[in-house]
Formats: sequence, C-alpha cells, structure tokens
Amino acid sequence: MPLKYPVVPHFYYNSLIEKYSFGPKHPLKPERVDRTLRLLNAIAPVEVIDVPSATREDALRCHDEDYIDAIQSFSETWEGEDALTDDQQLIRHEFGLYGDNPPFRGMYEASLGYLGATVAAANAVKDGANLAFAITGGLHHAQRRLASGFCIFDDPAIACDILLDRFDRVAYVDIDVHAGDGVQWIHYDNPRVLTCSIHEEGKTLYPGTCWPEETGTEFSSLNVPIQAHTTGDVWLDAFRQGILPGLEKYQPQAIVLQLGTDTHHLDPLGHINSTAQEWLAAVTDIKALGLPIVATGGGGYNLTTVPRMWVAAILTLANIPFQNEIPEHLQQPLGAKTIFDDALPEPRNTGRPYAESVISWLKTNHHPNIRP
Ligand SMILES: [Zn+2]
Repeated sequence: MPLKYPVVPHFYYNSLIEKYSFGPKHPLKPERVDRTLRLLNAIAPVEVIDVPSATREDALRCHDEDYIDAIQSFSETWEGEDALTDDQQLIRHEFGLYGDNPPFRGMYEASLGYLGATVAAANAVKDGANLAFAITGGLHHAQRRLASGFCIFDDPAIACDILLDRFDRVAYVDIDVHAGDGVQWIHYDNPRVLTCSIHEEGKTLYPGTCWPEETGTEFSSLNVPIQAHTTGDVWLDAFRQGILPGLEKYQPQAIVLQLGTDTHHLDPLGHINSTAQEWLAAVTDIKALGLPIVATGGGGYNLTTVPRMWVAAILTLANIPFQNEIPEHLQQPLGAKTIFDDALPEPRNTGRPYAESVISWLKTNHHPNIRP
C-alpha cells in the first residue's frame, strides 16, 4: 500500500549531540531538535538515520592537527580551570577554548558526534542523493584552528570539502542571523567554494566580520550584512539581490545550506525582524535552483520559532506539501498554533537604505567579477 505521505529522505542524526553542551546557560539546547522531530513526525514521517561519529580524518579536512589534539586532550583531562598548568592555559587561549567555548569532559567525542551527522549527509549527496539533512549541524563559526561561537568543528565547511570530492564548484549559503565566518575563513582562498552569507552586520552582532569587502580569492566570498532591526521584507530583498545573482553567476553544482532560524523577530540573540514565511522564501529560492543540497541546522534560540521554521524548511526542500495549522495536540507544547506568523513586525520596510547601499556596492564591485 502506498504511504499516505512521502517520507522525509536522508535525515541524519548522531545521539552524541545531546552531550554537546557548554553548560546550563548554553543556548544550543537539544529541545530544539526534539521539538522539531515531534512536529515533523506529526505532519510527515521522518526516518531518522542514526549514524556513527565522524573520524579524526573527517575533522582533518578543515582543521589543523594540533587543534584537534588540543580538543582531544582537554576533553580527556578537563578538571576545571584551576587545575591547568601555565602551558595548558596558553594552549587553551591559542585555540579559543574559553568564553563561549570552554572545554568540557567528552567534548571531543560530542563534537565528532554532531560532525558525524553532517559528514553522513554530505557523503549521501556526494554519492548521488539530491537532498540530505543534518539538522543538528551548521556550527559555522569554528575556524581551522580556533573554537568560536559555541562551535568546535566546522561541519558545514567540512561538508563543502566532502562535496569537492565529486563536484568542481560548491556553494555555501548561510541564512543564519550571524555571519558564517568560520566557513568563509576556512575556504577563503579556495575559489572552488563560493561562501555566501546574509547576516546582521558586525557592528551590532557577533562575530563582527564578513563585510562585503571580504571578497575571498577570485571573489569566492560573498557577504550581505544588514542593519539591526531590518524587517524581513528588506532582508528577503537583500537576499534576492545580494546572494542569488552571485549564485547564478558562479553556477555551483551542489549547495551546503545553513538553516539558522535566528533571523526571526522573536529570537533572543539577533536583532533582525523577519517572519517564518519571509525566511522560508529564501529557502524556496535555493531549492528552485534545482541543485543537490546538504541542509544543516544552525542558530535559533526561541523554542516556539525554531521547530516550525525548521519543519517548514525540511518539508519545502523535500517537496512535501503541508498545512499552516500545527496539529492541535502540539499547539500548547510548542507554543504556536500555526507554522507561519500571523502578525508582521511593524513598521515594515525598515533598514532599506543600508541594504540598498550594500547591494549597490556588490552589483558594482563583486557580482561582475564572480566566475564559474
Ligand atoms: Zn546564529
């Protein structure tokens, strides 16, 4: 008998993500994924494929050996800051293992765990799948030898590298409210990866970089910063005029898509006022390019918005139609009645002049220089 609904394909997960925590205040909470799966399963069945952890070789694709060694060493021996020798303090600071990214016991295994799901998704697309998900991934701030912004291993950068085993040109598209700086710096000198990021500008939000002038080798780094309090209508226009023409010019053969949901106006970390539907329109545009996609998660820290935005993106990418209404038994637990937002943040059209100046700069100085 045919299934009532198509199953969401290639959905990869590694349960060690539940051990990936920098402490009780750490905002990347596992509930984000639990709630997403509950909502997803109530609309379309998803076969979650539990995959092995990534290997050291996978991490070595985009990270230096001494960085990986330091992660492993602190992971095995960490007993708190007071127990460190002076040498260990130096190493810790060299690799960014403080502030938002303090070491914790089991950090190495947990990091290889979340990386495993993204590696499996990237390998699926490398092997011919048209679409694969690693919704626990998208940790886009880690650099080659620097932990940053809650990120240890840069799984989207590694996904791009895996796709290069098969494709000549890969694009990375990042719609998180924070800039995809780690992916940019890791691939900055590699013209076979076009990194694209639309984000709140660095004057008001971490990480403070990814300006339009950071163009990468052969213009393979494309940045669209927008101002705090910009509304989703302007955000979407900036995406369509800033990112899409670059992608069309570059003609990638596959895409790694980072689905950060923290552009939503209810998100506690970012200051962009988009709605679920405006954000989803960018996802729909990427799908319309008709290319193989590795879709990762990303930021998003409001538990009433992340599940519905991720579910909308997953179903849209998988071509599974859905209703706006959230099934009744989940409305109270998820704190929302509908997938999309009823009320639009007011006033509309906020942040337009700044966005237009960025687009104008890109049209003159960047898009014309992008080469396939
Ligand atoms: Zn973010």
